[in-house]
Amino acid sequence: MLLPYSISIASFSGILMLEFKKSVPVGEPVRGISDRLEIDRRLKGVRCPICKWQPDRESRWTCWDCDHPEFFYNGCGTDWNTFETGGQCPTCLHQWIWTSCLACWGWSKHEDWYQEEPG
Ligand SMILES: [Zn+2]
Ligand SMILES: [Zn+2]
Repeated sequence: MLLPYSISIASFSGILMLEFKKSVPVGEPVRGISDRLEIDRRLKGVRCPICKWQPDRESRWTCWDCDHPEFFYNGCGTDWNTFETGGQCPTCLHQWIWTSCLACWGWSKHEDWYQEEPG
């Protein structure tokens, strides 16, 4: 006696999802991992005194001519993260007293951004 039976065939569509994740930052000098951790640690306590925005490692400020409140007219055009250098432009070495917020565009004294002691 033959028993009825069914065969289910699962068909697989042969699509391979390939993800290429490039983790190499472009245009950024290669730093040691300890430097990166140190920067992250330092940025943790940094907040805009006005809106509490927190910059991260990728945040960039530009050294540029500025009227109020810095009154600095020799901006060299360098883009850098001002909290990595304590407000000093790495190119022309101008020490910025004031730092603008990239979120609310308000100006605050650089030292006022350090809301919490790191560590
Ligand atoms: Zn702000
Ligand atoms: Zn500069």
